[in-house]
Amino acid sequence: MSASYVIIGDGIAGSSAAEAIHEEAPDADITVLTDEGETLYNRILIKEYAKGKLPEAPISIHDPEWYDERDIDIQLNTLVTRINPDAHTVETHEGTEIEYDKLLVAAGGTPNDLPVENADADGVHHFWTFEDARRIREHAEAADTGVVVGAGLLGIDLAAICGGQDVDAKYLMRGNRWWRYALSEAGAEIIHEGLREKGVEPVFESGVDHFEVDDDGALAAAVDGNGVRHDADFAGVAIGLDFNVEILQDTDATIENGVHVDEYMRTEVDDIYAAGDITQYWDTILDERAQNGSWGSAKQQGALAGRTMLADSGHDVEIEPFRWVSSYSITHFDFPFLSFGFPTIGDETCERSYGDNEWRRLAFKDGQLVGGVLIGNLAPQSKYKQLIKEEAVVADQQDVLLQDNFEMDELGAATQQ
Ligand SMILES: Cc1cc2nc3c(=O)[nH]c(=O)nc-3n(C[C@H](O)[C@H](O)[C@H](O)COP(=O)(O)OP(=O)(O)OC[C@H]3O[C@@H](n4cnc5c(N)ncnc54)[C@H](O)[C@@H]3O)c2cc1C
Repeated sequence: MSASYVIIGDGIAGSSAAEAIHEEAPDADITVLTDEGETLYNRILIKEYAKGKLPEAPISIHDPEWYDERDIDIQLNTLVTRINPDAHTVETHEGTEIEYDKLLVAAGGTPNDLPVENADADGVHHFWTFEDARRIREHAEAADTGVVVGAGLLGIDLAAICGGQDVDAKYLMRGNRWWRYALSEAGAEIIHEGLREKGVEPVFESGVDHFEVDDDGALAAAVDGNGVRHDADFAGVAIGLDFNVEILQDTDATIENGVHVDEYMRTEVDDIYAAGDITQYWDTILDERAQNGSWGSAKQQGALAGRTMLADSGHDVEIEPFRWVSSYSITHFDFPFLSFGFPTIGDETCERSYGDNEWRRLAFKDGQLVGGVLIGNLAPQSKYKQLIKEEAVVADQQDVLLQDNFEMDELGAATQQ
């Protein structure tokens, strides 16, 4: 009998694993379990739906027939509550037990709540699923005033949705700028100005102390830590994710803000693998553990996990260690924005402004380029990514790297570590 492959999560990581397994072993017995009520869709695009810029249809990636055609058993609205590694079973919220030979946990994360009074009020939104996007769109279309909390890559989507839906919004930030771990004031000011042009006002050294509700329990205002009251019938909260690791609690997998996997997506538990946002994977470029909340990385990890599961079941499948430089773009403004690699780590940075709405910052660790942020001109991204992949030691050549358009052969011999 052929091995059974069970996948928890039908996001891009889980779905890519199912696809990879089917491609290499068309007769494989594959089951995909998801607590969502719909099959894989493009999570990156749900912000455009919430802004009112896209209808539903183009956001779907796989319709149910896609699974039928591949004989993949997709079970919607099915929450896995427990994994029993000894019995090789998973248990669902309905008490059903499903056996596996190889199990992939591709369960991603769940947005954190703000730990403040009335954070669960009607009108306070988190943003992860298509269902969230539908609620957000409906509410934002009706709302007059709003606040957004969380000065990162998801928070800015909520701010752009307010702008797109003509909600008069304040973007409350804890520090003195947006994404302060990756941008200096010079770079962040380009984003702030872009927000202002959309009718969203950045408010610095702020944050929510508590929400106020009206007599019906609906959101009425956010009061910040300085006691300033901001009218709001809409609030968007994006302060990070809690990774969905509880189901691994009866296993010996190492859980540490996600689950540890090796460079082939194996956890430390026999026959259990993980992929996507939920992993703390072994990064073969940095030579340390890393985590990556991006679509491309989750897709690659999922496909690799599927192939590793096959290889470990005795199939003749070649596997290569995970080696990936991720990128994440923002398309809300008149200028492009891209972050690549790990722009928030390292021990050294350099940056340059190139005129209005054009700015660049690079981050280095032990002399190696490890990430950066490009605003306005994305042309050099592939060269930077190549240097990261090559582990080139180039921190001493910042003048060349920051040239408007440098050529690789202008760099002096870059040592490889
Ligand atoms: C609004 C938004 C915008 C984004 N924009 C970008 C972008 O521009 N660029 C970019 O690179 N990335 C972007 N991302 C991030 C990117 O979407 C994620 O990194 C990627 O989707 C992660 O994929 P995943 O498969 O690991 O996890 P997920 O997509 O989170 O999928 C996990 C699935 O598992 C399900 N699940 C969880 N627990 C269980 C359980 N116990 N039982 C059954 N099912 C379970 C979840 O409901 C979910 O369907 C964005 C994310 C959001 C929310």
